[in-house]
Amino acid sequence: DHRLPRIASAIRVIPDFPKPGIMFQDITTLLLDPKAFRDTIDMFVERYRDQEITIIAGVEARGFIFGPPIALAIGAKFVPMRKPKKLPGEVISEEYSLEYGTDRMEMHVGAVQPGDRALVIDDLIATGGTLSAAIRLLERVGAEVVECACVIELPELKGRERLGGTPLFVLVKAA
Ligand code: IMP
Repeated sequence: DHRLPRIASAIRVIPDFPKPGIMFQDITTLLLDPKAFRDTIDMFVERYRDQEITIIAGVEARGFIFGPPIALAIGAKFVPMRKPKKLPGEVISEEYSLEYGTDRMEMHVGAVQPGDRALVIDDLIATGGTLSAAIRLLERVGAEVVECACVIELPELKGRERLGGTPLFVLVKAA
């Protein structure tokens, strides 16, 4: 797609953040390029507009940037998948492993219904642990997770293989 080079080059790579050896993929520079940001949203909207998606589940924090414009464009609900103790209502939660230790993701009870068709969105997939927790939460309440979508994939970490058969769509693969 002719839009991908501009999207890829609008993503900044910051070495040694948040710690030595990590090449951090920074999407805040993509947000500073309105054409590239628009193209990013358009590419997701084009892929999902005719798939009867009812829920866009955005993973905190950068799934909250890309998810809502897609949800509005395709007429789906937006559901935030949040870090612990942020959501005020009743929640269900799933633990997932990090490089050191574990974290937890929470979703409001009642936001997603059995039979909903969900798309999970985040900025980046690394090991796949985060997206797999989101998939589990949605499937626990009876939703069908149609696909996961990210702007960036780090393919060397093989996160795709942790999604238990749920398809993954990405725009940019990074080293
Ligand atoms: P995973 O669970 O290992 O796949 O890590 C993915 C999560 O970590 C996502 O929520 C990302 O936003 C975040 N993450 C990991 N590495 C990066 C990066 O280089 N840039 C931005 N976010 C990252």
